[in-house]
Amino acid sequence: LSERLSGVFDRLTKQGALNEEDVKTALREVRVALLEADVSLPVAREFIKKVQSEATGQAVTKSVTPGQQVVKIVHDALISTLQGDGDPGQLKIDNPPAPILMVGLQGSGKTTTTGKLAKRLKERDGKRVLMASLDVYRPAAMEQLAVLGKQLGVDTLPIVAGQKPVDIAKRAKQQASLGGYDVYMLDTAGRLHIDELLMQEVEDVRNVVEPRETLLVVDGLTGQVAVEVAQEFDDKIGVSGVVLTRMDGDGRGGAALSMRAVTGKPIRFVGMGEKMDALETFEPDRIAGRILGMGDIVALVEKAQETIEAEQAEKMMKRMMKGQFNMNDLRTQLEQMQQMGGMEGMMSMMPGMGKMAKQVEESGFDDKVLKRQIALIQSMTKKERANPKLLQANRKKRIARGAGMEVSDLNKLLKMHRQMGDMMKKMGKMGKGGMLKQAMK
Ligand code: GDP
Ligand code: MG
Repeated sequence: LSERLSGVFDRLTKQGALNEEDVKTALREVRVALLEADVSLPVAREFIKKVQSEATGQAVTKSVTPGQQVVKIVHDALISTLQGDGDPGQLKIDNPPAPILMVGLQGSGKTTTTGKLAKRLKERDGKRVLMASLDVYRPAAMEQLAVLGKQLGVDTLPIVAGQKPVDIAKRAKQQASLGGYDVYMLDTAGRLHIDELLMQEVEDVRNVVEPRETLLVVDGLTGQVAVEVAQEFDDKIGVSGVVLTRMDGDGRGGAALSMRAVTGKPIRFVGMGEKMDALETFEPDRIAGRILGMGDIVALVEKAQETIEAEQAEKMMKRMMKGQFNMNDLRTQLEQMQQMGGMEGMMSMMPGMGKMAKQVEESGFDDKVLKRQIALIQSMTKKERANPKLLQANRKKRIARGAGMEVSDLNKLLKMHRQMGDMMKKMGKMGKGGMLKQAMK
C-alpha cells in the first residue's frame, strides 16, 4: 500500500495541475500575441476567457513549464475554433450546372479567386466550368476575367454590352445548361464599401440563380473590417463559406479567428499569391500556428507528451510481463487506450505488439467497446478487481447488471484479460531480445 501511495505523490509533484496564477500569467502573453496577429479585441478577450476556465486545473506534462502547457492548450483551442464542419475544400457542385456566386468588396480578390477556383475545379475535379463577370461598373473587369479564362483554358460567357448584372446571370445560367457545364461561376462587382445598391444587386442575382455555394472573398489583411463585411454579407445574402486572400503577406492571419468566432462561417480557402495556382484549402492547424506564433513551444509540449505516453506504456508493460496483471491494470490500460487513440495507437507504441493490434482491429474493437469494458470494471468491487479469480456466476450477474450489460459481455472482457495476461507473461519469459525477434517474424 505504501508503495502505491508514494507513487501517487510522485505523480503529483512531477505533474502538478495548472493553477489560476500560472494560467493568467501565460494568457497575458497569449493575449498580446493574438492582438498582434490582428485578432479583434472582443474576440481575443472572449477566447482568452474561455481558455482560462478550460485550462485551470488541467494537468501539466512532466518536463514542461505551466506556461508552455498553457500555450499548447491555447493552440488546440485555436484549432477547434478555426475548424468548421466537414471538408473545407469540398464544394457543393453536384446536380450540374451548379452555380457558385462570388461576393465581396472591390479589390478583395474576387476575380482572381474565381479564376483560381475554376482552375482547381477543372484540373483536380475534372469539371467543365463556365465563368461570367457581372461587373458592369469597371470597364476592364469583364476583360480581366476573359483574359484569365483564356489563360486557364476555361470558358467565359461572351460579353454583351449594356446588360444589367441580373440579365448576365440569367444568360450564364442558360448558357451553362445548354452548354453542358458542371459549374458556372458568377464573379460579381464590388464596392469600396458596402452599400444598399450593391447588396440589392447581389440579392437579385442570388434569387435568379439560387447558388449552391456563395463564397465571400475577403482580404485577410484587413482584420476587423473583414469581419464586419462578412457579417453584413451573411445577413443580407447568406454566405456558405469564406475565402481569405492575401494570406501570403506579412499578416499573421488573425482575421481568420475573428471571422470564425463572430460569423461562424467556415473558411474554405486561402489565397496565397497573385498566381492562379496560389490557392490552398484552409488548414486550421497551420493558421493557428501562425496566429499564435509560438510553434516551437507547441512542438516542445507535444514532444514531451509523446515521451511520457511511451514511458507509461513501457512501465506498464514491464509490470505485466512479471505476471502482475489485474483488473485495475486492465482498467488503466483501457483508459489510456482511450486517450491514445484506441487500442491500435497504443499497441503500435509497444515493441512486438503489431500482430496483436491487427487481431484486435479485426475483432471490431473500438472506442464504444472500450467505454463498455471500463463500465464493467467499474461495477466490480475492489477485491474483485484485484483478484479476478473471485468472479463466479453470482458476482458476474451482479456486475453485468450494474453496468447495464449481459454476463456474456463480462465473459468477453474476462477472456481478453486472461489472454492479455498470458501473452504478457510469455513475452516476459522470452525477454527483450526474444520479443523483438518475435516481432520481426
Ligand atoms: P476584385 O476586385 O475583388 O475582383 O479583386 P481582384 O481579383 O481584381 O484582385 C485585386 C488585386 O489583388 C489583384 O492585383 C490581385 O492580383 C491581388 N490578389 C488577389 N488575391 C491575392 C492573394 O491571395 N495574394 C496576393 N498577394 N494578391 C492577391
Ligand atoms: Mg473583380
